[in-house]
Amino acid sequence: MKLSYYMPTKVIMGSECIVNNKDVFQELGSKAMIVTGAKSAKVNGSEQDVVTALKAVGIEYILYDKVMSNPTIECAYEGARLAKENGVNFIISIGGGSPMDAGKVIALLACQDIKEENLFSGKYENKILPMVHIPTTAGTGSEVTPFAVLTNNKAQTKMSIGTPLIFPTIAFLDAKYTKELSKTITINTAIDALSHAIEGMISNKSSELTNGLAEQSIKTITECIPSLNIGNLSMEEREKLLYASMVAGVVIAHTKTTAVHAMGYSLTYYHDIDHGRANGLLLGEFMTFTAKSEPELIRRILNAMNLNTIEDFNQILDQLLGEKETLTDEEIESYSEKCKDTGNMLNCPVRPSAKDIKHIYKASMGK
Ligand SMILES: [Zn+2]
Repeated sequence: MKLSYYMPTKVIMGSECIVNNKDVFQELGSKAMIVTGAKSAKVNGSEQDVVTALKAVGIEYILYDKVMSNPTIECAYEGARLAKENGVNFIISIGGGSPMDAGKVIALLACQDIKEENLFSGKYENKILPMVHIPTTAGTGSEVTPFAVLTNNKAQTKMSIGTPLIFPTIAFLDAKYTKELSKTITINTAIDALSHAIEGMISNKSSELTNGLAEQSIKTITECIPSLNIGNLSMEEREKLLYASMVAGVVIAHTKTTAVHAMGYSLTYYHDIDHGRANGLLLGEFMTFTAKSEPELIRRILNAMNLNTIEDFNQILDQLLGEKETLTDEEIESYSEKCKDTGNMLNCPVRPSAKDIKHIYKASMGK
């Protein structure tokens, strides 16, 4: 058996875990920068909890709350400049995937001069600021992954930085911050987590260890689907989703994602379709494609959801997604071209051809 498993992030989960574990911040430095978006961290109470904890242990902080959704390269450089100017020793990222991913790149750029053209090269010095990640949605799993996705307007797509350097130091998981999320955001982020777990099992970098974790994540998310549909989740279900999303993050930290994420990036970039929703639109058809070469693997995924066929799976996703967006033939042609040679495609057990990709897009979208 071959196995390589590395998970350096300390995960602390539980109600009021930030304030209850405030001493942890002292191990990271004396001045922090809080990286977040303009609004949600203020509304859900997470920013206040962090400030309370920092003040209680006498740590100074500055706030960078300008991270937009699908953050740009410019946003990361601006945050890094601010971190350097203010001499901060560590970064606290609060939010969904956007602030968490931006925070990772800010922590990297605050310690080393990397030219924009080399930002996605994977070649970095071994220097980075410590990072605390606080997810306030249950989907990206970014709090436990060595990836950060940024929007590259020059390349007109989202691009991923992957290096073990950007594994967060500590992740605090408190489901109370997800309590007021809208039905749509809750569904889209849950689908993102489900997609991570399923793609993690399909990836040719999977292992029995990651498959076991992925199955647990899939089962846990499946238990919440009836409540996701009616848009009314109990606190216990919110915790389950936050947990399952983190576990799926641990999975993709090892397996990476596959064609679904590669294909979804254009839907997000050009049509502003939410990241999780984009994955949800493509997942069923990608499973159908994969089932041709890996029927047992797809059976195992369906089993974890207590389903018999991919049609059953599609029905569940259709209900969660509602009416689907449409694409023109020209758009399908262009997006297929964009994603067919990306790194994620190499993680598929059988790499989809340009023709396969076009078919998956066509069959996935609205008519
Ligand atoms: Zn994702």
